[in-house]
Amino acid sequence: MNPNEPCPCGSQKSFAQCCASVQQQGAATPEALMRSRYSAYALGMLDYLVATTLPAQQAGLDQPAMQQWSTQSQWLGLTVLASGDQADSTPARGWVRFQVRWQEPQGEAQSHEELSHFVRGADQRWYFIDPTVPLKLERNAHCPCGSARKVKKCCGPYLGA
Ligand SMILES: [Zn+2]
Ligand SMILES: [Zn+2]
Repeated sequence: MNPNEPCPCGSQKSFAQCCASVQQQGAATPEALMRSRYSAYALGMLDYLVATTLPAQQAGLDQPAMQQWSTQSQWLGLTVLASGDQADSTPARGWVRFQVRWQEPQGEAQSHEELSHFVRGADQRWYFIDPTVPLKLERNAHCPCGSARKVKKCCGPYLGA
């Protein structure tokens, strides 16, 4: 898209000054990552959606379904309702509550409210924890976020373990 047009995420900034910059340089906050992922859905940027999911979950993503949903839907808007992070926890965590609106071909406009969780990996990047991707987790094994802590004391509660 034209980088000078309004960003798909609804921030009122240009795409260049908003999600395009986050997509190139990395997200400073969970909310910035969440917005940039919405814009990636709107623009069909599947690689970015995969790359910003928790690495241990990436192989479990249903990429054809994501691609289809991304490109066949008309993306009507995003509203971030609340967000927060605990930058000083180990590892750093964050959450975003948001509403997303979209329309499938020949379908009615839909809206969906969700609370998403994020964790900062050992590489200092924020990752989305996808609640739909099951992980084979052993509660006493090292956590897949790379923190070197045990699953049950780290991301276990967010990963259904
Ligand atoms: Zn944006
Ligand atoms: Zn973890």
